[in-house]
Amino acid sequence: MQDMALLVQASGETDRLCPVDQVNMAKEIAHMIVVDRCPTCSGVWLDGGELERLKGDVNEQAILAMSRGFGFP
Ligand SMILES: [Zn+2]
Repeated sequence: MQDMALLVQASGETDRLCPVDQVNMAKEIAHMIVVDRCPTCSGVWLDGGELERLKGDVNEQAILAMSRGFGFP
């Protein structure tokens, strides 16, 4: 599946609020999965099953690349 198709599919999902600062998270494509990223604190939300897809399909290097910029408060 192409990234663009993933994004279209994801646009049907409801926006999530960041659990840290309650702002709308922006949808982003990272290594063929859709993640919700908070523009304020750069936290990333993975939908159920997405972590499993990461574990199964993506190598460790890609996970490291995706999580770069993830900030803990
Ligand atoms: Zn946040």
